[in-house]
Amino acid sequence: MDRSDVIGQSALLKDLRGLVDSGRVVHSYIFHGPKGVGKRTISSFFAKMILCREKDKPCGYCKSCRQFDSGNHPDVIKIKDNNKGIRIEAIREMREEIGIKPFQGEIKVYIIEDGDTMNPYAQNALLKTLEEPPEHSVIIILAENVATLLPTIVSRCQRIRVPRLTIAEMATLIKKEIGSTEEEAQVFAGLSQGLPGRGLELARSKEYKQMRQDTLGILERLSRSSLSESISCVDYFMDNRDNIVNILDNIEQWLRDLMVFKYSNGGELILNKDKLTQIHGLSQVFTTQAVQYIIDSIEDSKRKLKAHANFQLTIENLLIRIQGSGEYAGGSRSKI
Ligand SMILES: [Zn+2]
Repeated sequence: MDRSDVIGQSALLKDLRGLVDSGRVVHSYIFHGPKGVGKRTISSFFAKMILCREKDKPCGYCKSCRQFDSGNHPDVIKIKDNNKGIRIEAIREMREEIGIKPFQGEIKVYIIEDGDTMNPYAQNALLKTLEEPPEHSVIIILAENVATLLPTIVSRCQRIRVPRLTIAEMATLIKKEIGSTEEEAQVFAGLSQGLPGRGLELARSKEYKQMRQDTLGILERLSRSSLSESISCVDYFMDNRDNIVNILDNIEQWLRDLMVFKYSNGGELILNKDKLTQIHGLSQVFTTQAVQYIIDSIEDSKRKLKAHANFQLTIENLLIRIQGSGEYAGGSRSKI
């Protein structure tokens, strides 16, 4: 990982570099932000800068940087969630180890990933270390939500918020990491919500790309089919019921684009820019009111499914509403 490996986050990186260059690195940090925003990438980059021996940090070629890049730096210790949260045993082990001097440099960096999965016992054990950290240690806690950490922990750490990326930064990242075309990169950048982890996951996922096609196809079919034909779409949902939340979210995303299209006539804010023709076609069929009604119906269906309502009935009811024959949808489909 060298400088060019972190795309975006230029303001944050500048601040972090400033801390390292001016010798103002403290003993404990919390890097926080939503899942997939890049907390691991940024905190690792920070650790690499702290440990680099050259002036222009991270240089990428000193022994420390090379060890870091190979994943074998002896003075970088990562503490991870073992699927049951970070347990007190892991923190105790860290407490025993942290007193030992660094193997080769002057600093040891501990990165506690998924810090918000630490139970209260683990957090209390960690607190003791944060109260009296060894001179040679830097502890970085990663957390989605600072509120899950004890206030006594938060108050002893410097908080660093990792912000979302812009669409342009996301598109650059997707092109670089996946080799996507400009158009595809723009689409997935729009769908990423500024979260690199999410954007890359979606852009890499064949299943997601298939689901996009499927849900758009269903909307198109519902826009022109009879009631009985519409209900036959239930088979798709039955076959994919484990993925129902994502499918419904995806349909909502198309509807959101439909709405944006109606107001902006295909402007910048459309997420699915590669499907403008289809979005235009659907916008001719569903009125603004109908789109809002369908979104409300989807939200209602999600609530019902969460409350374990009958799956098939709930979906059939939703399909009827989308098709425009629902009890309250009378006349909602029009040319407006
Ligand atoms: Zn270096």
